[in-house]
Amino acid sequence: MITLSGKGVFGGIAIGRLSFFHRSAEEISKKSVTDTAAELARFEDARTVAASELKMLYETALCKIDEESAAIFEIHGMMLEDEDYNAEIKRAITEEKVNAEYAVGRVSKIFSEGFEAMDDPYMQARGADIRDISNRLVTILSGKTAEEISTAEGNIVCADDLTPSEAMQLDRDRIAAFVTAKGSASSHTAILSKSMGIPAVLDVGEDLLTLTDGAEAIVDGFSGKVYISPDEETERIMTERLNEERKHRALLEEYKGLENITLDGRRIELFANIQSLCELPAVLSNDAGGIGLFRSEFLYLDRSDFPCEEEQFEVYRTVLEKMKDKKVIIRTLDIGADKQVGYFGLEKEENPALGLRAIRICLTRPEIFLPQLRALLRASVYGRLAVMCPMICSEDELFRVKEMIDRAKSELKEKDIPYSEDTEFGIMIETPAAALISDRLAPYVDFFSIGTNDLTQYTLALDRQNRRLDEFFIPHHEAVMRLIKFTVDNAHSHGKWVGICGELGADIELTEKFLEMGIDELSVSPSYILPLRDKIRKTDLSKKKGKRK
Ligand code: PEP
Ligand code: MG
Repeated sequence: MITLSGKGVFGGIAIGRLSFFHRSAEEISKKSVTDTAAELARFEDARTVAASELKMLYETALCKIDEESAAIFEIHGMMLEDEDYNAEIKRAITEEKVNAEYAVGRVSKIFSEGFEAMDDPYMQARGADIRDISNRLVTILSGKTAEEISTAEGNIVCADDLTPSEAMQLDRDRIAAFVTAKGSASSHTAILSKSMGIPAVLDVGEDLLTLTDGAEAIVDGFSGKVYISPDEETERIMTERLNEERKHRALLEEYKGLENITLDGRRIELFANIQSLCELPAVLSNDAGGIGLFRSEFLYLDRSDFPCEEEQFEVYRTVLEKMKDKKVIIRTLDIGADKQVGYFGLEKEENPALGLRAIRICLTRPEIFLPQLRALLRASVYGRLAVMCPMICSEDELFRVKEMIDRAKSELKEKDIPYSEDTEFGIMIETPAAALISDRLAPYVDFFSIGTNDLTQYTLALDRQNRRLDEFFIPHHEAVMRLIKFTVDNAHSHGKWVGICGELGADIELTEKFLEMGIDELSVSPSYILPLRDKIRKTDLSKKKGKRK
C-alpha cells in the first residue's frame, strides 16, 4: 500500500480506480507575424469568444451548482479584461511581432508565476486562474476544442492539476473523487469541489504522476490521505466509513427541508456550531436552521497580531449574508485556558481553566473587546445576528458586558454608522454559578445557550483537557442534568428561550430528555443535524408521559 498525503478540500470517502487526465503536451509554437494589426484583431476576437464562453459557464454553474461557483467564472471574465494582462499580450504581438497564441502563453507564464511567488496563499492560488483563462484563449486561437476529461463511472480522476474550467466538467454523479499532484486549498478548483460535493485531495505531490490508470485506491477527503492498493485493514475501516457516509447522505435525501418536530407536535430548532467560514457549505448542505455557536476566536488564532475591526467586520458580514434570513449567534472572544495566543501577552497561570480567560479578558482589555463589539454591531444590518458572551459567572459581569455594548453602540452612533437594534443578546451558561443564578440573569438577556463542555468540567471539577481523567468522566452526570433543567425552567419563567451548544447537544441518548426538559434549540456540528432530526421525528413525548402516570 502506498499512502499519499495532501490537502483534503471536501470531506468524503471514495473507493475506486485511478483514471488519469493528461493534457496534450503540445508546445505553443512561436511564429513571426508581419500583419500585426490582423493578429491583434484575432486576439480581440478570441477574447470576445472567451468572454461569451465564460458567461455560459457562469449561467451553468449558477443553475447547476451555486452562486459561489458561478462567481468564479465571473472573476475569470474580469481577469480577461485586466488592463496589464491585455497590454502585455498586445505589446508582445506589436513589438515582438509574434503570433497571439505564443504571446498569450508567455504572458500567462509570467503572470501566473508572479502570483505563485507571493506570500499570501489566496494570491498564490490566483496563478491557476490566469493559466485557466490563458488556456481558454489559446484553445480558441488555435481553433481546437477544449480537452475533455473522460472517465468511467466510479473512477477517481487524477491530474497534475485541474483548472476551474476542467473541474466544472466533472460530473458529480459519475466520478468518485479527484486527486491532484499540485493545487491549493484556496484555489477556485477547491471551492468547486466543495460546492459540487466531490471528495477531493489536492497537492499530494509528484509521486501521484508515477502511478497508472486502473490502480485501486481509496480517497479520504477528510484527512487528505489517498491510499493506493490499500491493505485489507485499511479497506475494511474505510468501507465502514463509506457506508456511514452513505447512510448520512440517505438521511439527507429523506430529511432535508423537514421540520424538527416530534410525533406529538413538539418543535425544536437545530442549529450548527462552526469555527470558520470554511464550514458554511456544510451548515447549508446539512439544512441547519441557523448557526447556534460561531466560535469567533478562530479569527485570533494562528497569527501574530490582533485582527483589526475591519477584518472582523468582513468575516461577520460574510457569514450573515451567506445565512440570509437564518439566525447567526456569534460568540465573543473565548481565548485562554485551552486556547492560548502568544500576542495577547497573558501571564502564565497555575490554573488557566480557572484563570484570566474569555469574558474576563474582554472586560479587563476594552481595547480588544470594543473593536469586536463594533465589528459585530456593524455587521448586524446584514442579517439576523445574535451576540453571546462566554463564561459569565455573575450579574456584575453581565452588567459590565452590557455597558461595553452600549459604549460600542454610542461610538458607532457618533460616527453615524448603522447597526440593528434587533440584535439579540445572550449568554452562555457554562459555569455552575451561572446555572444556579440563572433566575437572576434571565431578565437581562434574550436567551441562554448552555455550554455543556465547560459546565461539565466545572461541575465535576474535571479538566476537560486531561486524558488521564477519562475514567472519572461521567458524561451524563446527574448534577449536570439538574443544572440544565434548572436553567431551562428559569429561562422559561422569564419568557426567554434556551439552547444547548456543548457536545451533549449532539448526544442522541439525551435528545428525548432534552425535549422533555423543554430545551428550545440544540446547536451541534453540521453532520449531527440530520441524525438528530431523524431522532426527534421518531420521538413521541406524550407516550412517555402517559406511561409515567
Ligand atoms: C462549551 O463549553 O460547551 C462550549 C460550547 O464552548 P467551548 O467548547 O468552545 O468551550
Ligand atoms: Mg466553553
